[in-house]
Amino acid sequence: MKQRITILGATGSIGMSTLDVIARHPEQYEVFALSAHSRVAELGDLCLQFAPAFAVVDTAQQAQDLQARLRAADCRTEVLYGAPQLEAVAASSQTDCVMAAIVGAAGLAPALAAARAGKKILLANKEALVMSGRIFIDAVAAGGATLLPIDSEHNAIFQCLPGDFAHSAPARAGVAKILLTASGGPFRTRALESLAAVTPEEAVAHPNWVMGRKISVDSATMMNKGLEVIEAHWLFAAPPEQIEVVIHPQSVIHSMVSYVDGSVLAQMGNPDMRTPIAHALAWPHRIVSGVAPLDLAAVARLDFEAPDFTRFPCLKLAYEALHAGGTAAAILNAANEVAVEAFLARRIGFRQIDAVLQAVLAQVAHAPVADLDHLLQQDAAARRAAAAYIAAH
Ligand code: NAD
Ligand code: MG
Repeated sequence: MKQRITILGATGSIGMSTLDVIARHPEQYEVFALSAHSRVAELGDLCLQFAPAFAVVDTAQQAQDLQARLRAADCRTEVLYGAPQLEAVAASSQTDCVMAAIVGAAGLAPALAAARAGKKILLANKEALVMSGRIFIDAVAAGGATLLPIDSEHNAIFQCLPGDFAHSAPARAGVAKILLTASGGPFRTRALESLAAVTPEEAVAHPNWVMGRKISVDSATMMNKGLEVIEAHWLFAAPPEQIEVVIHPQSVIHSMVSYVDGSVLAQMGNPDMRTPIAHALAWPHRIVSGVAPLDLAAVARLDFEAPDFTRFPCLKLAYEALHAGGTAAAILNAANEVAVEAFLARRIGFRQIDAVLQAVLAQVAHAPVADLDHLLQQDAAARRAAAAYIAAH
């Protein structure tokens, strides 16, 4: 039986890498549904290539136009639109596995639907987990879903943990620390006083990874690593003190687990997301991903250093939000989404991103999470506060 895959965010960097791996194994995988937000023409091309049962777009007009194009090309794909249909394809009895690769909080609802429906979830959309934390993990358990991390660091940690790994294991016997590696992004060594003037083009030019624009800016501020610390907390039931960030500029070690006996296990490979994607698609087996073998002689050296919280205040804010608990991480995440968008639109400077976050965290009081509605209200309040701060500065 082929695994039937739904890809939420098919036109993005992760979505396209997933389709690249799937196309290498037509005997094992077939595409059930693909979604896109704005790049509808590209989604149309993917439908012609992969012939999914469903494609999901944002608006009725987009759906009508795409459906007409596909009909004219004799493609059987049915085009749907809107958030409820996105949730429906993610939870459909006809799909086995859901790649959650929408960027930002917009991906939460369909990922939760997949969790409740007991799917195998390949989670790239870290913002969904950062935002909803316990609610998401509980939904995975209640739905009997399998949650496999796609984020390269978390996929590496998953590979370095013992085979009997369970998301709900409290203090996993023998694990001393989770060592989350970070490249340090494009501004690790740049003169501090010049950071205020960096442009969106400079910020999205990551030294090792090719990614979507939002995560690329997050990597430049190291908010990405902050979100990943919170993501690791939920995925591996690890307290904040057990999660340590290590700067490793070559991005060859994707993360490590350190054990009480002094052993440190690392997962290595070229920085290419097709490795964690192939790992999670085939888990517990292994399949070819198209990634070139690691040439250690060419890599030659691996460097490590401690992170600089003065240079990267967003990383510190993320640790503080994790310690604060409750809705703090959702508030931080929402403010960050608004700030990054404003930076990309050249409405604020690079160093104002962390200023927005500090202002919003000071203004919107976090609280214990009551339920999903409460979380969404806090998310909305944080977005309003961030927009107001940006408008006033
Ligand atoms: P991207 O910007 O390249 O793609 C985002 C996808 O989400 C697109 O298909 C887009 O159509 C869809 N989308 C955007 N806004 C939407 C909305 N409001 N509603 C529905 N769909 C929407 O992003 P990416 O780099 O592929 O990242 C996707 C997710 O994976 C992010 O959460 C990111 O943090 C995570 N991730 C990415 C990488 C990477 O290497 N790119 C690595 C680790 C984790
Ligand atoms: Mg990562």
